[in-house]
Amino acid sequence: MIQTRYDALWSHEIEQEILTDTMFATISCRQCGYVEKSVFRGSSGKCPSCGSRRLVVSEFNQRNAIVADNTEKFALQLFQSVVNNSDILKGKFFIKRNVECPQLELRGRTKADLAILDDNLDGPIHPEKIKCIFEVKMSLIWNWSYEDRSKPLADYDGHAGRPSIYRTDSILKAIGKAAITRACRGSERIPFVVVGNAPPPVAYRDKIDGTVRSGLIQKWISLTPTPLVVESTKSPGNRNPKETFGFSRIDSTAELEDIFMNILTKDWRYVGAMVEPKEIGAIIRGLDLSRTDEEIGEAFLTSMEGIKID
Ligand SMILES: [Zn+2]
Repeated sequence: MIQTRYDALWSHEIEQEILTDTMFATISCRQCGYVEKSVFRGSSGKCPSCGSRRLVVSEFNQRNAIVADNTEKFALQLFQSVVNNSDILKGKFFIKRNVECPQLELRGRTKADLAILDDNLDGPIHPEKIKCIFEVKMSLIWNWSYEDRSKPLADYDGHAGRPSIYRTDSILKAIGKAAITRACRGSERIPFVVVGNAPPPVAYRDKIDGTVRSGLIQKWISLTPTPLVVESTKSPGNRNPKETFGFSRIDSTAELEDIFMNILTKDWRYVGAMVEPKEIGAIIRGLDLSRTDEEIGEAFLTSMEGIKID
């Protein structure tokens, strides 16, 4: 387990520190008997010795659980250090791991990986105490050789492993968890943020943006400022985007603090409905516009609640 630099963002140096022997897979060729140990299979899927595609990958079956445990601890301590270094947030907000909230279906194996609470509580948490839910989808993102761990063999997109939110399966799981949370009463005030350490695949970036436009998820972030180390000059704009509508690469703890401030110091509300413009118009006409902006907004949201196609 990493002992240092919990206030730093994810990097190949940090990843190097958490590598243990059990995280390496044995990759062997059935054709020629070639064997190597690396974290992931190379991107070509071919034996580097004879070119055969008959490669067998054998990895320790607890590897993903160990990596998830390490990366969630990393994110927990990073987020705690951001909150505790902020004069405004310190002592008011608390980052907790494996948060249980039965009202939001966060229990058993589907607890919130991380959550921000406005009280220093443990055990089952009432939705009103939860200020943000984080789904952590972090991985080992680089490929590493067992023999020489001085630098990575390949960047996040240069091997067959498809780590973090570069894996569509992880994206779909995060969307599913957000949808279940959003389907529960009491989640309307709680932003849902997906935390990764790689960018999403190019073909999925518009879907990621769509989940944010629809309000299902509020943000997708990557905690890795520099995901390109091995092939740093190969189309960096595409392989290392700073942001899209829904995704942001975090480059400093100050950027993370800005996001937390935005999430925690405002009264957010989820709105989602299939509506007729004329019905919305009628609702607006019916509101008492002499009241405060906040009261008008509350009255509007209440009127929206029953809208559906009959
Ligand atoms: Zn071979």
